[in-house]
Amino acid sequence: MKPTVLLIEDNEQNRYLATFLLENHGYEVVAAVNGPQGLELAARIRPALILLDIQLPGMSGYEVARALRREPVTAGIPIVAVTSYAMVGDREQALAAGCDGYIEKPIDPDTFISRIRNVRGSSGEDPPR
Ligand code: MN
Repeated sequence: MKPTVLLIEDNEQNRYLATFLLENHGYEVVAAVNGPQGLELAARIRPALILLDIQLPGMSGYEVARALRREPVTAGIPIVAVTSYAMVGDREQALAAGCDGYIEKPIDPDTFISRIRNVRGSSGEDPPR
């Protein structure tokens, strides 16, 4: 069975690129375009990993991360924050909010998948190729 990644991202181009890269590496991708939708999906499908944009309209990525950690059903799911490279302090705040790691935007197609695997670390097996 393919591991499922929940992608919470409001920007269509970023969603497209991340989905393309993940699917090419054996992941199943489910996408949400805002925090509340992401929380609902996370609880329902319990993905192997959540890729969380920090700059979301309305509920921010930090708030989403804290809500995921509060909820027992999603508390153990690894979260990788997608932060803006230019925003100093985003990474520290993302980790403080409960994220397990981060990736900077713009997404680098050459390192994206390896960065995700490194963040998953002990929690995950490699997906089938
Ligand atoms: Mn965004």
